[in-house]
Amino acid sequence: MNETDCLFCKILAGSAAADVIYQDNRCVVIRDINPQAPTHLLVVPREHMESLDDASPKDESLLGHLLRISARVAYEHGLSESGGYRAVINTGSGAGQSVLHLHVHVLGGREMTWPPG
Ligand code: AMP
Ligand code: ZN
Repeated sequence: MNETDCLFCKILAGSAAADVIYQDNRCVVIRDINPQAPTHLLVVPREHMESLDDASPKDESLLGHLLRISARVAYEHGLSESGGYRAVINTGSGAGQSVLHLHVHVLGGREMTWPPG
């Protein structure tokens, strides 16, 4: 999938709608349209990268930023205090990745089970 066909690139360009709750020069955070927990956010880098498999050494700072912002928005939504949250990166179709633009799911507001399904 290239950037022209990518849903998250369209959201980042403003040509597709999304509920944006945070943004900076490297990422945006949106509400997941099909939430799997009372709070379900997606931390999306502005740069198109299909998955974690495409990350190279030059992306290490960006990956760290995505995780730090995940913790920040989790805190701002009260998840850190209310039992915690899960930050998930699905990579590949067998792991449940459906949008081929790297993103971190931040889920919380309910008890989580382990192992995940
Ligand atoms: P994944 O399956 O890990 O690739 O995650 C993609 C996520 O994007 C899913 O949880 C979808 O519910 C979510 N999603 C799909 N379309 C939209 C949209 N237009 N706005 C917000 N979230 C979306
Ligand atoms: Zn994209």
